[in-house]
Amino acid sequence: MAKIRTPIPGATAANILFRSDRTCCICRERGIPTQIHHIDEDPSNNDPNNLALLCLHCHEETQISGGFGRKLDALQVVQFRNDWFERVQKRRDTADEIAAAKGAVPANKPSTKSVRRAELPNPQKLKNYILTLPAIRLDAYGRAQSLWDKGGTSTQRQGCYDVVDILEQILITLASWYPLHHFDGLAPEEYFNAMTASRFAWHHARMEPNGYGSAGTMARLFVADAVMNDLEKMVEKMVEPLSMHLEDFDDFQWMKAWKVNSDSSANEVVEFKDYPKRILGRWLGPRKYVIFFADGRWGVQRNEDDSIEIGERRWRIEGDKLFLTFPRGTGLSTSESTITSFTAKQFVTEDHSTKYEWAP
Ligand SMILES: [Zn+2]
Repeated sequence: MAKIRTPIPGATAANILFRSDRTCCICRERGIPTQIHHIDEDPSNNDPNNLALLCLHCHEETQISGGFGRKLDALQVVQFRNDWFERVQKRRDTADEIAAAKGAVPANKPSTKSVRRAELPNPQKLKNYILTLPAIRLDAYGRAQSLWDKGGTSTQRQGCYDVVDILEQILITLASWYPLHHFDGLAPEEYFNAMTASRFAWHHARMEPNGYGSAGTMARLFVADAVMNDLEKMVEKMVEPLSMHLEDFDDFQWMKAWKVNSDSSANEVVEFKDYPKRILGRWLGPRKYVIFFADGRWGVQRNEDDSIEIGERRWRIEGDKLFLTFPRGTGLSTSESTITSFTAKQFVTEDHSTKYEWAP
């Protein structure tokens, strides 16, 4: 007998999406298309316990039969899903915990439905929260830093995801000072969760004009980093109008504190004369790693574990200029660019402000 598909009620679907952070509960890759899967294969059984959010690839794995049954069986999907729900919830709690640890009062729940009102509720509470945000951000980066230092693109990506979650929680908390359902008629957590997911999807799509997967695993790290930057910008953009309603709020000082570099040693400025010494080692440039060797050779690495391509590549530094010789067509070409900034963790060259991040 054919199984009858009954549409999943909207509220049930919304709940699964939100609890899963709109992310496949198996591979947990953000920014790829997902669908709600019926764990028992019965499309009419819309009991929330029978539903899990999977990407198309992981969904296929539930369909493939191997030696002793399904590659990914129902029990495994349930375990993955429950574990994922728990992790998502824990990450969401982290932002509030950090805020509390820094002495900021947690979210203010709006009690009024009115669209227009005379003044902001609890401005003092808001001021305290906004002033605490730079410390919350630094704390978030500090936690992520240990993952970034460990290396491995998937670990580093996880570090970015953790920061993204905390920034998302900050946006949700700031939204609680707006009227109820102010953003597109939705609850703030619904609104910002969908918005973040859509940023992931957009960055992922735009970075791979040749189709998903064509830019390699590095692309996913760039996607996570780009979303992190978007959300930081959004926090600034929400603080802007809110803080106009606060007394004695110095927006210039706040912005300075908010944007402070998360790793103090990274602020160390490298002097010209030290450039040739300090450039040695591995850096993460646009879409690939570059490695500078003391003997004047340099190489590229397309992915974390790929071998280093060197060939005829040579580098030298004169003053603040970086000269790179590399194969082009059948011959060699040499580019010249000025290094516009050089700190312990990053240097930037003038052509398109190309950034190189220290990636030992
Ligand atoms: Zn997946």
